[in-house]
Amino acid sequence: MKIIIIGAGPAGLSCAYALSKKGVEVEIYEASEFVGGMSRSFDLWGQRVDLGPHRFFSKEKRINQFFTEILDGEYTAINRLTRIYYKNRFFQYPLKFTNVLFNLNPFTIIRILWDYILQRLNPIKNPVTFEAWVTNRFGKKLYEIFFKSYSEKLWGIPCSKIDADWAAQRIKTLSLIGAVISAIKGNAGNKHKTLVDEFSYPKYGTGLLYEKCAERIKKNGGAIHLNKPVKRVLVNESNIANGIELSDGGQAQADFVISTMPFTTLIKGLDRTPQNVKDAASQLYFRNTILVYLEIDGIDLFEDNWIYVHSPDVKHGRITNFRNWCPTLYGDKKTSIICLEFWAFEQDDIWSIADDELTQIAKEEIKKLDLIPTSMDVLNSKVIKIPRCYPVYETGYQEPLKILENYIDSIDKLVPIGRYGSFKYNNQDHSILMGLLAADNITDGQNVNLWEINTDTEYQEEGDVKDILNQ
Ligand SMILES: Cc1cc2nc3c(=O)[nH]c(=O)nc-3n(C[C@H](O)[C@H](O)[C@H](O)COP(=O)(O)OP(=O)(O)OC[C@H]3O[C@@H](n4cnc5c(N)ncnc54)[C@H](O)[C@@H]3O)c2cc1C
Repeated sequence: MKIIIIGAGPAGLSCAYALSKKGVEVEIYEASEFVGGMSRSFDLWGQRVDLGPHRFFSKEKRINQFFTEILDGEYTAINRLTRIYYKNRFFQYPLKFTNVLFNLNPFTIIRILWDYILQRLNPIKNPVTFEAWVTNRFGKKLYEIFFKSYSEKLWGIPCSKIDADWAAQRIKTLSLIGAVISAIKGNAGNKHKTLVDEFSYPKYGTGLLYEKCAERIKKNGGAIHLNKPVKRVLVNESNIANGIELSDGGQAQADFVISTMPFTTLIKGLDRTPQNVKDAASQLYFRNTILVYLEIDGIDLFEDNWIYVHSPDVKHGRITNFRNWCPTLYGDKKTSIICLEFWAFEQDDIWSIADDELTQIAKEEIKKLDLIPTSMDVLNSKVIKIPRCYPVYETGYQEPLKILENYIDSIDKLVPIGRYGSFKYNNQDHSILMGLLAADNITDGQNVNLWEINTDTEYQEEGDVKDILNQ
């Protein structure tokens, strides 16, 4: 049996690894010159960085086994500090009740509590939007302060048009009553660190996991072809996927095709796709990311791994300081690399402006936020644009997505997985799990429904950190 995998990101690589371990012939075709996809790492000005912050966490044993098996000890524990920057103040994230109280003026606090109580007494029935979901759980005022501006920067659409699915997947519920009780009792009884405080991280960047995985696949006899974009998947008259066509015109045959290329591109490229399916594909869209890296001449900047920048007066929404991850990233360098994230649609001006201009905006914004001492110069800059970074969960997106899922299910031997591969807002762990389970479905004849992964998962931050580090 020969299996072709499109894309060498976490989903494609984990799938290829699991298959190659069982002696199946696998060939990966990757469009870029790298492995790791959006989770790759790279050298920059003598240091090592990721594409924005990449924290790895999971409570799923299978995923953590993959992580430890591949890295074989080359990972470390990172103490996590992430905060929200809003109106010149820092708020711990995930939100802590006492910290919120300490940082806000009494009038705002009274308003927060009042709104919260009102909301609990009279919740929105069937909250289908992000705005309704968050307001129900936190009250209107907390929603406005901590969720509205950031989410609208990220998604580029009003919160009243973002589907509640995103909130349910990603936002840890804050129990105000629980927080008050633990504030009164103190933290004395809690000796465990949780995944909130600490996470495992490959010593030379998150991409190390995928570089090492690629080596293992090759050792197991698998092939990885870089710089080989796939144009379309070939499907025969009996509706069975049997190969791929590359952008350079070449073709390759296979018994199975696993795709992690953008789901909508995959669908549109198939022969005989019905018009209603094409129409459904046109309703789904992605949000792009622009990363601006700056090398700062100094080492004592802010202490967070990353900061969520809620302030509406700047365009970027998150800023990472790689100096605060682990020393193996920066070695003996005496500078810090920070990375500002901007989000855009293709038609937005900011997506097409020149790198110099973007760098200038980034420099002005860090000055405005006063996060970096003015005595420190910016020595270097680099801009990276990532198209189709976030599948947009606009309200009602499930309907066209279901049409695409049903259509793909009608084609035998074609399995889409991954973040944009299956239009799921995956983290690395979800994509890895999809890859491993897709392999099981083929080799062990299992029938796990891959569409279900990540739809109902609870936000797992409360997991005990020993789950990851001691397995
Ligand atoms: C700024 C940022 C921050 C993030 N932070 C975190 C975090 O903290 N924690 C976390 O777990 N995750 C994080 N993620 C998400 C994580 O990067 C992704 O979930 C993960 O990389 C998805 O893996 P994937 O294999 O599904 O897709 P991808 O990583 O996108 O890989 C897909 C691969 O397919 C290739 N490809 C696409 N089209 C074709 C084609 N036509 N032919 C051949 N190859 C093709 C691409 O080049 C790519 O290599 C973050 C992502 C970003 C961008």
